[in-house]
Amino acid sequence: MHVRTLTGCLAAALLSLPLLSGQAVAAESPAAARVLTYDASGSAEFRSAVDRGAAIWNESVENAELRPVSAGQRADIRILADDGWPRALPTSLGKGTVWIGRQAVDEGYNTVRISSHELGHILGLPDRKPGPCSSLMSGSSAGVPCTNPYPNAAEKAEVEDNFAGAAGSRAVAGPVPVLIED
Ligand SMILES: [Zn+2]
Repeated sequence: MHVRTLTGCLAAALLSLPLLSGQAVAAESPAAARVLTYDASGSAEFRSAVDRGAAIWNESVENAELRPVSAGQRADIRILADDGWPRALPTSLGKGTVWIGRQAVDEGYNTVRISSHELGHILGLPDRKPGPCSSLMSGSSAGVPCTNPYPNAAEKAEVEDNFAGAAGSRAVAGPVPVLIED
């Protein structure tokens, strides 16, 4: 009885070895990240804030990676500056246009938070308003003093989920793109 139990344990341990090593290899090479290119050449004075917003997402999630587009290539995401309110027009998951609106910047809202918030929309996140400053997608509802540009754990998990799997091509909204203001 005692011997049989030991043998069982050993067999279980041996069986689990290939699984464990397979997981270790998968964890070392997150090659599944979907690369999304962005063109911030039209973002004027917000260029560095946009790059910081993209870097924050790259630090925060594994399954998607925002990368500046190469010259002459068509980007998945276009980022522009204008005098309106910040907004995003996701056309499909990981693609669309973002406007860093000076109206909010002039009111004192943080440009890096605006940038990562709007990129969050392109990554498939809806607004979560009203909400606390710890939530990136609470947007302007967290108030002008809120400068947090980082997604919270739930927001990170949602983006990871959106881009899970090789395709990562789940549609954001319906067939018609909807402009998200703020
Ligand atoms: Zn928003």
